[in-house]
Amino acid sequence: LGRHRDDRRHTGFTYNGVPFDQDNLNVFAGLCAVDTERHVDAMMAALAAHGQHCTRMGAYKPRTNPYSFQGYGARSLPWVFEAAGRHDIRVVAMEVTHESHIEEIDTCLERLGRPTGVMLQVGTRNTQNFELLKAIGRQREYPVLLKRGFGITLNESLNAAEYLASEGNANVIFCLRGMKTELGHPHRNMVDFAHVPTVKRLTRMPVCIDPSHSVGNRDAAPDGIPELVHATAQGVVAGANMVLVDFHPHPEKALVDGPQALTLSELPRFLEDVRLCHDTW
Ligand code: PEP
Repeated sequence: LGRHRDDRRHTGFTYNGVPFDQDNLNVFAGLCAVDTERHVDAMMAALAAHGQHCTRMGAYKPRTNPYSFQGYGARSLPWVFEAAGRHDIRVVAMEVTHESHIEEIDTCLERLGRPTGVMLQVGTRNTQNFELLKAIGRQREYPVLLKRGFGITLNESLNAAEYLASEGNANVIFCLRGMKTELGHPHRNMVDFAHVPTVKRLTRMPVCIDPSHSVGNRDAAPDGIPELVHATAQGVVAGANMVLVDFHPHPEKALVDGPQALTLSELPRFLEDVRLCHDTW
């Protein structure tokens, strides 16, 4: 996935009719964790109403605390895939934390007649889970969204991407999601979107930003705009090709990361802001 100077070849791929490359931009707004069928449907209906064809939906949640909600797993896959089919959502970014989840996703999609496509997400806690990377790399059906490891060097995370490619799957998007610091507040992580052009210079991968998990709350700046929206703007102006962002119809009811979710009424303005920032390219 590494690039040579001025190498503009193969900077992306098309999946299920949606192009992903270093020159375009896709927004993946959606639920951090799938909780109810109704919330899934409301989220996708809102996306469809605003011309969106991609979303994020977490069925398998890697939690720091074993007693926290771990996601509904396979049970919730039909809620997601059927709703995606109804609303013409073509790509669902979904984290997998174990090789068996790929099989579960594949089986469910097959049973439903493949109403949508899935982008397999590797979370920041699994960036160096080499056996998982190899298993995901061995399959060619689904593209991969690889999160940067929050406590390792950029080069180590880029090597993790090579694990996917070396097993045969080079349809990889690299996601910046903030780095751990000792501070933790007011942002959960140190926003690292200044590395968007760096990753594009060093590799041929499209680059995603995750302002929700970087900032970790939707607190507003003095201008009334959530700081995570400011961070999004910075990342998009810097050249991000994908935005992974948490929304929820009722953030106060969300089972995971409610405080960082934007509301559906904020969706049109968010999409417009992203479009305006992208127009600066
Ligand atoms: C997520 O996107 O749902 C998530 C858990 O992100 P990260 O792996 O970056 O913490």
